[in-house]
Amino acid sequence: MIVENLHNIRAHIPGHVTLVCVSKFHSKDDIMEAYRSGERIFGESRVQELCDKYADLPKDIRWHFIGHLQTNKIKYIVPFVELIHGVDSFKLLSAIDAAATKADRVVNCLLQMHIAREETKFGFSAEELDEMLQQDDWKSLRHVRICGLMGMATFTDDQNQIAQEFTLLKDTFDSLKQHYFPTDSMFKELSMGMSEDYQIAIGHGSTMVRIGSSIFGARV
Ligand SMILES: *Cc1c(COP(=O)(O)O)cnc(C)c1O
Repeated sequence: MIVENLHNIRAHIPGHVTLVCVSKFHSKDDIMEAYRSGERIFGESRVQELCDKYADLPKDIRWHFIGHLQTNKIKYIVPFVELIHGVDSFKLLSAIDAAATKADRVVNCLLQMHIAREETKFGFSAEELDEMLQQDDWKSLRHVRICGLMGMATFTDDQNQIAQEFTLLKDTFDSLKQHYFPTDSMFKELSMGMSEDYQIAIGHGSTMVRIGSSIFGARV
């Protein structure tokens, strides 16, 4: 099933868009099935689970952390993680920088923007992003690299609502790129789109989709 699902999804994803296979709550065997069909980028949302899978699975897997990261757990993933999607405060960004300095790495990060109607989703507003990037503090963080933005749309059947939210994220991305990263080729990722809305996201400029249940089935 996993191989068939991947086949279907791959057919809908253009070459310039990166697929993150969201494997949270799914077994190592499931991951290996996707791995054998060619996938190398996997996303996890819990530190313990990510570390456990990292230890046991092939070392050419590129692990993305897509959950809400607690400061005291950063050190466990910083030595190997390829991209942290959900950075939602300057405090977290500087804590990642501190851990990355110790690990002698530069860690790629995406700033999470709150675009959904739901109160529960983490992230900066457009104003807060502007406020943070206007200050110079983040520029002195030598061990994190801000590679773009990430966001989650409202969980709804209303396609227009979802499209509006992705448009807001894309517009904010373009504006921040122009103001703060005009010559920085690393600021290029717009992580938006999940199983239910990834085609809308791609239509609105996503460069990276995070897909779980459409690949691996429902999470138990
Ligand atoms: C779980 C999760 C996904 C994947 O969700 P699906 O609906 O299963 O595709 C994507 N992004 C984040 C941040 C998640 O937590």
